[in-house]
Amino acid sequence: MTAMTDPVDPDRLRPEQLSMLLDARANAYAPYSGHPVAALLVSDSGRLFCSCNVESAHFKSICAEAGAISALISAGEQRIREVWILGPGPEPCPPCGDCRQRLHEFAGTQTRIHLVDEEGRVLNSYSLPDLLPEAFGGP
Ligand SMILES: [Zn+2]
Repeated sequence: MTAMTDPVDPDRLRPEQLSMLLDARANAYAPYSGHPVAALLVSDSGRLFCSCNVESAHFKSICAEAGAISALISAGEQRIREVWILGPGPEPCPPCGDCRQRLHEFAGTQTRIHLVDEEGRVLNSYSLPDLLPEAFGGP
């Protein structure tokens, strides 16, 4: 799912962006973990890329962040300005270790990762070096 938008206010999730996250989370395929997640990426050009997690019986599941990164790359973008993540409940849902490394590949030190609840409130906000200090490789 993609859309165009103006630059993002880092302190607030816009209603249309929250709707994208809620819709994606509602479509999450998480029968094994019962842990639906949605991630919304804002590219450097301001385009939005949203995805949910998709599990499979062999447990090599696709995280919401990974799906959104795939959509971003498929659309010809390569840089992430903002990341918004909505977990299954009221608690913050930080990206897993694999996704921290994936985000590192396409994000910079200025990229913000926001964990939100289903009201759009920012629960926690990080830089990528906060989440992945001494990161391996990447541009
Ligand atoms: Zn992940």
